[in-house]
Amino acid sequence: MKFWDILIDQAEAKKLVRSMFSSGMVPHALLVHGPVGSGKHLLALALAQTFLCESPEEGLPCGRCRSCSSFASFEHPDVHILWPAPSSLSTEELSFRRALAEDPYAVPRPSGSLGIAIDRVRDLQHRLSLKPYRGRGKVGILFDAEYMRPEAANALLKTLEEPPRGTLLVLTSSAPERLLPTVRSRCQEVPLHPLPVDAVAEELMRRFNLPHEGAVAVARASEGDMGKALKLLREGDIKRRAREFLESALKAQSPLDAFLRTEEVGALPAGELLEWVLVMLRDELLESFGLPERRVLRRDEGLPLKVSPGKLEAFLDEVGRAYDMLSKNMPAKLVLWHVWLQLRNLRR
Ligand SMILES: [Zn+2]
Repeated sequence: MKFWDILIDQAEAKKLVRSMFSSGMVPHALLVHGPVGSGKHLLALALAQTFLCESPEEGLPCGRCRSCSSFASFEHPDVHILWPAPSSLSTEELSFRRALAEDPYAVPRPSGSLGIAIDRVRDLQHRLSLKPYRGRGKVGILFDAEYMRPEAANALLKTLEEPPRGTLLVLTSSAPERLLPTVRSRCQEVPLHPLPVDAVAEELMRRFNLPHEGAVAVARASEGDMGKALKLLREGDIKRRAREFLESALKAQSPLDAFLRTEEVGALPAGELLEWVLVMLRDELLESFGLPERRVLRRDEGLPLKVSPGKLEAFLDEVGRAYDMLSKNMPAKLVLWHVWLQLRNLRR
């Protein structure tokens, strides 16, 4: 069942959607709206999977049929997804799909100049007009539909008014008031609410085996946004790894340590790791200038041992050079290894 299983809380929306399916009264267009991080992407996926399932049970997808399994791996030929993107799509498409497959709660939020352009809506309409491959029907999903350009929204109206037979359109939005009223009025609304602190905390404990207090602290800071909670947690993790990286460079003796350490952190985003290293070095420098109130991190989160100001400046130079290397697309592991060796040599 996958998507239904990951979707936390939102009992009312789940009940509403399940009753539509179990009664066979599924509208041809749904608008799932609610605050960022409340689970809109997930619910949209969950109900699309139910719609296409070959033997749904009480409004839930079976999770076993051919349709369910190809849906779960994002390979279903009758599902078409649109999301806000810059005008050139090629690389974006891959990274969006990968992010969605990994964790729909953690999909990056659209911002700035992104949009859903009319040619993509037309392409979707064309795909929906063809016969389904699997026979159950076709689904079009528009994530963050408020990003549709006005002409794109107008084009979509046609499909909302006269949908091809056996088609389901699912729109999601965290700002439904920005949708064209004519678009909105043609969709049945499924509202989601911000996730309660308890629900987020429970999910964090379940997924990451966090202690109760830690999970509650992150859940509170996330303000009911599961995506933000995951981001906070990830940042905390990178910060800790950055500290370990620094510590091993400043204490260890052999290049083998460097190799093992960079292998270990190689999967993390190297730029973010170096940013934290930079923050730790800068904090220490401020401290040595008698400006501890300007620190970003607490002392126990910062540089794990004392280093003279002269050496700190040399370390900062090295990390700056490493940034340059990353920006020139040098492999991240190689750059980290280089930084590690330079820090170790400078420390001597
Ligand atoms: Zn199924």
